[in-house]
Amino acid sequence: MAKWPLPYPESPPMRLSQFHLHTSKETPAEAEIVSHKLMLKAGMIRKLAAGLYTWSPLGLRVLRKVETVVREEMDRAGAIELQLPTIQPKELWEESGRWQKFGDQLLKIRDRKEAEYCYSPTAEEAITDFARQELSSYKQLPVNFYQVQTKFRDEIRPRFGVMRAREFLMKDAYSFHLTDEDLAREYRNMHAAYSRIFTRLGLRFRAVQADSGAIGGDASQEFHVLADSGEDAIAFSTGSDYAANVEAAAAAAPGPRSAPAETLRKVETPTQRTCEDVAALLGIPLARTVKSVALMAEDGFVLALVRGDHAVNGIKLGKVPGLAGHRLAGEAEILEHLGCEPGFLGPLNPRKAVRIVADREVAAMADFVVGANEAGFHLAGVNWGRDLPEPDVVADIRNVVEGDRAEDGGELRLARGIEVGHVFQLGRKYSQALGFTVLDENGKATVPAMGCYGIGISRIVAAAIEQNHDDAGIVWPEAMAPWRAVVCVINPKNDPTVAEAAEALYRELAAAGVETALDDRGLRPGAMFADIELIGIPHRIVVSERGLAAGTFEYRHRRAGESENLDRAALLARFG
Ligand code: ATP
Ligand code: MG
Ligand code: MG
Ligand code: MG
Repeated sequence: MAKWPLPYPESPPMRLSQFHLHTSKETPAEAEIVSHKLMLKAGMIRKLAAGLYTWSPLGLRVLRKVETVVREEMDRAGAIELQLPTIQPKELWEESGRWQKFGDQLLKIRDRKEAEYCYSPTAEEAITDFARQELSSYKQLPVNFYQVQTKFRDEIRPRFGVMRAREFLMKDAYSFHLTDEDLAREYRNMHAAYSRIFTRLGLRFRAVQADSGAIGGDASQEFHVLADSGEDAIAFSTGSDYAANVEAAAAAAPGPRSAPAETLRKVETPTQRTCEDVAALLGIPLARTVKSVALMAEDGFVLALVRGDHAVNGIKLGKVPGLAGHRLAGEAEILEHLGCEPGFLGPLNPRKAVRIVADREVAAMADFVVGANEAGFHLAGVNWGRDLPEPDVVADIRNVVEGDRAEDGGELRLARGIEVGHVFQLGRKYSQALGFTVLDENGKATVPAMGCYGIGISRIVAAAIEQNHDDAGIVWPEAMAPWRAVVCVINPKNDPTVAEAAEALYRELAAAGVETALDDRGLRPGAMFADIELIGIPHRIVVSERGLAAGTFEYRHRRAGESENLDRAALLARFG
């Protein structure tokens, strides 16, 4: 009989010839932003259907890296992992009122008995149901439960690959507290954990004040990875820590707003009549061919969000008949006027459309149309077919820019961000609705306060690429790379000592704790290096006959322009 414990066999080297890599030279036509393009080219994801992606073995390695960092920091912060079902009964969602209120993003399904369920887009109801079965005394509080679980949201326009998918991986945590003060303490604790997570992942990020949106509740902050392709606009001060999602900044800004909500009217049918409405209100004839989505204020201020083929294709307004005589402001001029970071005028989420009032006449840009009347010019971002603007988030950015500035003496700047995390103080909304109480020190039934904390694990992978890439491909931060290092073997068939030396080096790196792959696919050096650069491995080591003869390995860091010839000791020192 075998002796217990059985010895573990040594793991075989991670050979790329035995792995599944499938890169492509072509730039996929369907991808608009760089992360989507590179994830497809590198073969990290493949589309199954709209907003549904398969993570290839390569992609999954990266996803798991993010997941691991998130899990480690959540554990360190004292949260406890569990797992809730993704399919949840209608009755539970009716208790909170969200079966109706959540809207079309909620995917509803029926089983064979015609019972109704949804696929969880978030899990406040399910966790509160677990809590009301498990927690009965103040002694069990505070507690913070988290899971890493697939979510589904039937997004109106899934796009940018896994950045805005319908099925995606989220870490969601929910905490329960006897008092509001204790909730505020845990909220700060989670805020700190999130900062550690994004720092460890090597991302440039900013925490900003946010609207609590459909989830509801009191205090709320979002974590944004800064990138020009971000769908969100954020405002931050150069003079203090102040930073806010522009929705929240606008809501807090003093002074007159854009037209009040009730005076705004949505016109969404892309018809001639719509265009004429807009044109009449603007006092400008618009092209008959331009399809439009328009937001109109009946106070005479008109914000026309026009996006027909013209705007989509980036043709300037000057080409629109009737507007040719107007002066066009260039991008630089608009950015300067707005005090925005370069790149601010990227694709805007129309739900967060902003309105600018200034003393210009007409200006236009790709994806933007600026209309004018005597009062000034108006600008907004448009995204055809996505959520239409909600009137209350259409705000006058000028108020934000000029009204905040006074407080800390700094300048308010605007930048674009990708929302990768969100923390909320929910209060008692769900615990109250689901009738969840615990007994306090005096034996009195008390409704606990709740917090919830989300991180878009799969979105982070795309967001990291937006921040870290070059012409050759992805440039992973070390913590997210599929492997930290790769040992490339040149012409292994010519000289068996090359393959042996590569394998020995591989084992040495692995023993030193450096996660390494062995590229033994036997490709020509050019093709092999192109793949390795595309998939973004930070450290590349080439083992060749020539190098071995000189006693060196060729080393190159993915961020460095040049390679160096290093002997074994100098090479290993790079991984210290
Ligand atoms: P967004 O404003 O981008 O629609 P959200 O505010 O609706 O996001 P939350 O409810 O705060 O999202 O969910 C927590 C996190 O889940 C988000 O911060 C984001 O990182 C991620 N997430 C949300 N929707 C998607 C999606 N469609 N695809 C990928 N990740 C998503
Ligand atoms: Mg959303
Ligand atoms: Mg959001
Ligand atoms: Mg959010």
